[in-house]
Amino acid sequence: MQLQKTPLPYYTSPLLPVPHGMFTCAGGVSSAAFTSLNLSDSVGDQAERVQVNRARAAEALHLPHLVSVKQIHADQVLVVEPAHLVAEVTGYDAMISSLPGTGLLIQQADCQAILLAAPQQGIVAAIHNGWRGSVLNIIGKTIRSLQEHFGVTPDNLVAAISPSLGPCCAEFIHYRKELPAWMHRFQIQPHFFDFWEISRQQLVKAGLRPEHIEVAALCTRCNQQFFSYRRATKTANGITGRNGSIIGLPQRTTTLRL
Ligand SMILES: [Zn+2]
Repeated sequence: MQLQKTPLPYYTSPLLPVPHGMFTCAGGVSSAAFTSLNLSDSVGDQAERVQVNRARAAEALHLPHLVSVKQIHADQVLVVEPAHLVAEVTGYDAMISSLPGTGLLIQQADCQAILLAAPQQGIVAAIHNGWRGSVLNIIGKTIRSLQEHFGVTPDNLVAAISPSLGPCCAEFIHYRKELPAWMHRFQIQPHFFDFWEISRQQLVKAGLRPEHIEVAALCTRCNQQFFSYRRATKTANGITGRNGSIIGLPQRTTTLRL
């Protein structure tokens, strides 16, 4: 991952040859628990401020439009159409798109965003992946949708796993109740699980080449530059902003083809 510092800080992966960014909590206009680049309008922040923050993030990536969904920690995949630009539809945690100039925005505070691109085919995808998404294998389901809707072969996909809860902090006291048996081998010390590796393996199992996957390996709970739900449960009753991760296809620019 590389840290871009202007016009506001965000991380990029050299694997993804399309506009994308995994944003930190800096560079926005929100205050208090949402300081400052909160990209969610479902957490109690002022809508006007979220709007400014989203506009700043989109502008940084030169994407004129953003589309996002009301995420519910399930495994439904939305095929993005222009109608979805108007308002967030509910019930989806993944988006796939061929629309130029349109960023897919994932909102997360410890959950992973998985950003995917099939550059030759002009297709992108973004997944909100918390532990429930890992259990449901929303990664595998999204990649199947890419095949079905756009004919994308997994061999041509590149992927980045955003900053998110690391194995240092992914503590599951009730894991026997919450996590299925196949996940237990990812327990790296009593009650701590490596969800970065779970996602990496789910991507490989879905057909991606290992060298086409980058894991940010930055823990959002350890690292104060990100919003963290788990950190906020200790200090602010769980009230916090949401980091944004965005991927989109560049806007078509006929004027540049001289
Ligand atoms: Zn950590």
